[in-house]
Amino acid sequence: MPPRRVIGIDAGGTKLLGGVIDDQMVVHHRVHRTWRGADRQETLDIFTDAVEEVRAAAPDVEAIGFGIPALVDFEEGVSRWSNHLPLDGVPFREVMSERLGLPVVVDNDGNASMLAEARGGAAAGTRHAVLVALGTGIGGGLWLNGEVYRGASGLGAELGHAVLALHGPECPGNCPGIGCFEALVSGNAIGREGLLAAEGSPDSALGRRLATGKEIDGGIVTELAHSGDPQAAAVMAEIGERLGFGLVGLVNVFNPEVIVIGGGAVRGGDLILEPARAVVASHALPGARDGVRIVAAHYGDEAGMMGAGLLALDSLGAPA
Ligand SMILES: [Zn+2]
Repeated sequence: MPPRRVIGIDAGGTKLLGGVIDDQMVVHHRVHRTWRGADRQETLDIFTDAVEEVRAAAPDVEAIGFGIPALVDFEEGVSRWSNHLPLDGVPFREVMSERLGLPVVVDNDGNASMLAEARGGAAAGTRHAVLVALGTGIGGGLWLNGEVYRGASGLGAELGHAVLALHGPECPGNCPGIGCFEALVSGNAIGREGLLAAEGSPDSALGRRLATGKEIDGGIVTELAHSGDPQAAAVMAEIGERLGFGLVGLVNVFNPEVIVIGGGAVRGGDLILEPARAVVASHALPGARDGVRIVAAHYGDEAGMMGAGLLALDSLGAPA
């Protein structure tokens, strides 16, 4: 039998990644899009355009799965609220299936990533796992008793908006929270801390880059840290330590077997993970902390796209 194929789309706060996923969990025909300041119509047009590009290469696809950075009512297929995209109150499944003429499934991007990592990635074989994806914000997912946990209205699990610091900074974007995990630890937070470090150390590699007028973002801080710049490495260590304190709460509450760290910031690797592991080892409750593994996502920043594809395959009754 030929493999069954679907399209998986993962939309982050600033970019989209899509591709064809088959029932062996192999990805073909990737597409990328970016946006800044696009309104609702433009955002939906970018989604549609990306799907059509993939579909031109794979006309046999049977359904489309979307992972979006929004509170998604999973049963109803409605985007209730988004901190990063203009998708509040959008009947997403209905709108996109009408535009595309194929069955559509939509879930929160963190939940989609969690599903992919649990089905075939870093949390495979576990029944209790947590995913924390560090991108523009923080995506979160919970795998409890062998299922994705979505809460009472399908809107969970927004781990990025668990409060980490009572007197911390206001949460960026539209979140009314203060001191959220996401406000302190994310790809954007790496960029913000990197900029402060560059301003404070004009002779460092970070400082010299700033002097040339180039942007300091999470990616460049990570790159410079890997190449040995001490200021950039210190930023990564600080973010890793903050991440660790966020994980302490998750370890104590959920007693997971594994915590999967995903998103673009995972390129920091052990520069972030080692300080996080050290904080968990010294501050989480005994017992819970001893068995938990803290590992990088197997699918890297493709977990959301893979998970969105798996949701679409599942909806066809053709689980990978
Ligand atoms: Zn928040």
